Parts: sequence; C-alpha cells; structure tokens
Amino acid sequence: MRLLRCPSCGFPAWLESLECRACGAPMMLATSTLSMVEVPGAVDDHGTPLVACVNRSWGCNWSLRADHPATACFSCRLTRRRPDADDTVALERLAETGKAKRRLLVGLADLGLPVEPYWLVDGGLAFDLLSSQSGQGPVVIGHAGGVITIDLAESLDALREQLRVTLGEPYRTMLGHFRHEVGHYYQWQLVERPAGSLLDECREVFGDERASYADALNRHYASGAPAGWETGFISEYATMHPWEDFAETFAHYQHI
Ligand SMILES: [Zn+2]
Ligand SMILES: [Zn+2]
Ligand SMILES: [Zn+2]
Repeated sequence: MRLLRCPSCGFPAWLESLECRACGAPMMLATSTLSMVEVPGAVDDHGTPLVACVNRSWGCNWSLRADHPATACFSCRLTRRRPDADDTVALERLAETGKAKRRLLVGLADLGLPVEPYWLVDGGLAFDLLSSQSGQGPVVIGHAGGVITIDLAESLDALREQLRVTLGEPYRTMLGHFRHEVGHYYQWQLVERPAGSLLDECREVFGDERASYADALNRHYASGAPAGWETGFISEYATMHPWEDFAETFAHYQHI
C-alpha cells in the first residue's frame, strides 16, 4: 500500500481522508496517479482539471476529470443499484461501504488487475449495494455475471459480529466480502471465460469448478469442513467448493 500525503503540507493521509489531519486542507484522490491532490484546483498527470466526486458529502474522496460527462467518480459509478433516496439509514451504510469498495479498487489497481465496468463490456464489473433491512426482501451476498451484490445491513457491526461467530468466519468484514466476491469475478472473467490452459491449471490447484454447488453447500452446512482441512485450505469455507477455495485464496492474497 502506498504512502499518501497532504498536497499542501505533506502530512501523511489515509486512503479515505477528505481533509488533512494537520493543516485541514481539503484533499481528494487522483485515481490516475493514486495520489492526494488539492480540492479544488488539481489537474491530473495529463494536465486535465479534476473535480471532486458528487458524493463527496457522503464521504467519497475520489475525483474525476472535469471534462467527463458524469458527476460521480469511477468507484461510485460502478454501483449499479443502491438504496432508494429516502432510505437514509441504508444510504449511511452505503457511504460506509463505499470506503471498503474504494479500498478494494485501489488494491486491485496495485495488483495490476483490470477493472472493466459493466457499462463498457458485457459481464463487466458492477456492484448492487442493497440493504436486507430496507423492507424489499432478502439480499444475498454473492457474484453473478460480473455483478457483486452486498448486503449493506452487514455494515452494522453487531449484526456482522453475530454472523461471523455463527458462521465461523474470522475475516467477515465488508472489505473481506468485497475481496472474496471479486475473486469469483476474476476466476470467471480471467480463467473460465477464456478457458485454455489457465483453466486446466486452476482445476489442478483448486479442483473442478463444475462440481455441483448445491450439493457442496448442503454437505458443508450439514457436516462442516473435513478433518485436517488446515493442511490443504486457507479457511473452512474454502473446503466447500472449488469456487470458494479460489475466492477465499484470492481474498487472502489481497489481505497480505
Ligand atoms: Zn496538510
Ligand atoms: Zn465517488
Ligand atoms: Zn463465495
């Protein structure tokens, strides 16, 4: 992870910083250089003026080119579905979840992984960030066809802690969810879709992903991980199905 600094005084900044903790100067992230720049008045590495994301009042500190037709930054635009405008409780959780999503995206950029948005390519990356407590039915966390769905209600610490203990998952944070689900996205996008030798190698390491997922799920929740799983898997959940093995391993790779 890179060291960020205030563009005015050079004091270290967090990835989420909206203003400097030392001099108070407002700042935003220039995504082309992954550095903090001043608000307003900054230009990108091509000299194009940058403006703050329209969701800055909701805590988003990313920027976009002033000549871009959108008003929201790349990260915010990746959110395809969000809570209704009058659901302020869910919107506050959306803002909190946005931090984890931006941290995910910076990590992916650091790893040199492509992020092709859903509005440019079929099966491109999108996020449906919805709340199971909005009264519009359950929200199932998962990945399908490029779309990562996250339950914003899980950003409630108490609920997350309760689930974490119940499900025996030590790294059940919002960032952990994102990193796991994006693992499913990349396995599908970079390994399964192109097929070829990479898919054969992947099956050798993680197993054959064509195994029945429903059967694996039932088996896992009925009898748990096999004895001695620690020697061959990164987590108990990874033992369930080759897809989960890949996603858990991919998430762990991003954590370290
Ligand atoms: Zn400063
Ligand atoms: Zn934004
Ligand atoms: Zn999974």
